Amino acid sequence: MTNQLCIYCGGKEATTRDHVPPKSFFAKPRPSNLITVPSCNDCNCEYGKDDERIRNLIISIDTTEIHPMVKGKIDKKRDRSFRRKEGRSNLGHFINSIRMVKRYTENGEYLDLFPAFDLDQSIIDRFLERMVRALLYKENGMEYIDLDLKWKMAPSEKDLASMPDEQKAFIFSRPVKEIGDGIFAYVGYFIKGKTNSLWILNFFEGIEFMVWVKGV
Ligand SMILES: [Zn+2]
Repeated sequence: MTNQLCIYCGGKEATTRDHVPPKSFFAKPRPSNLITVPSCNDCNCEYGKDDERIRNLIISIDTTEIHPMVKGKIDKKRDRSFRRKEGRSNLGHFINSIRMVKRYTENGEYLDLFPAFDLDQSIIDRFLERMVRALLYKENGMEYIDLDLKWKMAPSEKDLASMPDEQKAFIFSRPVKEIGDGIFAYVGYFIKGKTNSLWILNFFEGIEFMVWVKGV
């Protein structure tokens, strides 16, 4: 019998389980349906280094810091990490890279302001690749494969409207899955056994990413 390989690198034996999203996104008591995926020790440690930074980033914007699980709960963990010097400079860097963008409806009516990052954030690339690999494994049984990944923050009505009808109908027919009280929600457009897919990932009901995945 062969041992399970790491779903992130495909090269090493999976000796641990990685939590997706990371455990630190959830206040205690944590929900019982956290997603875990087989991972090698190296990938688990490597990704683990990002956990605190990415969480601090995601909960520190207007639309997420009001979430009941953030306010007075996990923001305390952030504030503790803040007091350490490197935590502070990391967060400052992220906050500076966020700008508010205007969102419009399909008809061009002004909708709201929504946070967006400058796109050259490799930590977000890494985080979204990890999320999507984990979801492909969980939802589609997909092991490691070379992927080409594109993402966009805050998909607008227009993004959704520009999809082919068939894809749109399919994605709206998919159940939205939720882990924790609005902490993480996702919906995936994929075909069983295929890698090419589209994912909408929402964190703390306030920040949303649309991720396109292509096998290469
Ligand atoms: Zn690995």
